Amino acid sequence: MSTKVAVVTGANKGIGFAIVRGLCKRFNGTVYLTSRDEERGKIAVETLKNEGLNPSYHQLDITNKKSVESFRDYIKTKYEGIDILINNAAIAFKQNATEPVAVQAEQTLYVNFFSLTSTCEILFPIVKNGGRVINVSSSAGHLSRIPSENLRNKLKDPKLTLPELTALMQKYVDDAKQGIQAEEWGNSSYAVSKVGVTALTKVQQRMLSDRDIKVNAVHPGYVDTDMTSHKGVLTIDEGASAPLFLALDAPDSVRGQYVWNDCKIVSWDE
Ligand code: NDP
Repeated sequence: MSTKVAVVTGANKGIGFAIVRGLCKRFNGTVYLTSRDEERGKIAVETLKNEGLNPSYHQLDITNKKSVESFRDYIKTKYEGIDILINNAAIAFKQNATEPVAVQAEQTLYVNFFSLTSTCEILFPIVKNGGRVINVSSSAGHLSRIPSENLRNKLKDPKLTLPELTALMQKYVDDAKQGIQAEEWGNSSYAVSKVGVTALTKVQQRMLSDRDIKVNAVHPGYVDTDMTSHKGVLTIDEGASAPLFLALDAPDSVRGQYVWNDCKIVSWDE
């Protein structure tokens, strides 16, 4: 039988690192810890090896098309494809960040939405039929975070296409550059990026249903990581538990859903 493969982006620390740890313990296959920085990634692999686990490593910067393509080509030569893809990598500006909103909007959407989307476009052809994709969203990725009813209606439209969603996310960046984003989009670039990730999950599920691929979004909880300046109340392993549930335990009927850290499905658009 061919080797099964699981891949986690942004896995050198935080929740992604704990997802790799959990997969190494429970997944019957090869687990790729990937990171944009090779040195940080290799240190993370060593840490897990010291725990008796055996992750594999590959460099993967989701903002760099060449990096994603070279990872895809590497996987293609070694395996039949990817069984589980966990899109975990993301950034967040701190609340007291001094960068103007236009800069925060552009950079946050660039990594959290546009790069996640392009990474999927490159890797989806090698995700195996019947595979699972987990997009790490957030409680901030709930549709209610968008003040404009008009925008909410567009984002939850069951016929929304990827080009339409991409155009909406670009509109946010453009609005932020003009300083007119707050009324319709709210005050958080991070929230907009994660609403985009949740909406994307539903679009992707529709695109991949004929290949029996399950795509779900997850809020991992408020977790003690660098991103939260260690104010989160959950450990990284607790934060990894809902992503691991979706990767390994959720019934196949769970598709295109928004799942909370207690592993329960949450209504996204009410
Ligand atoms: P961390 O900041 O601790 O870790 C983020 C990871 O993403 C790091 O490994 C970072 O790498 C990596 N990363 C950033 N940019 C890129 C890139 N271009 N390519 C590849 N990797 C990249 O965050 P958390 O562990 O807290 O967050 C993990 C996920 O969970 C994120 O999607 C986040 O939005 C989400 N989340 C977190 C919550 C929390 O309470 N912590 C709550 C809700 C959602 P590097 O070390 O090189 O910077």
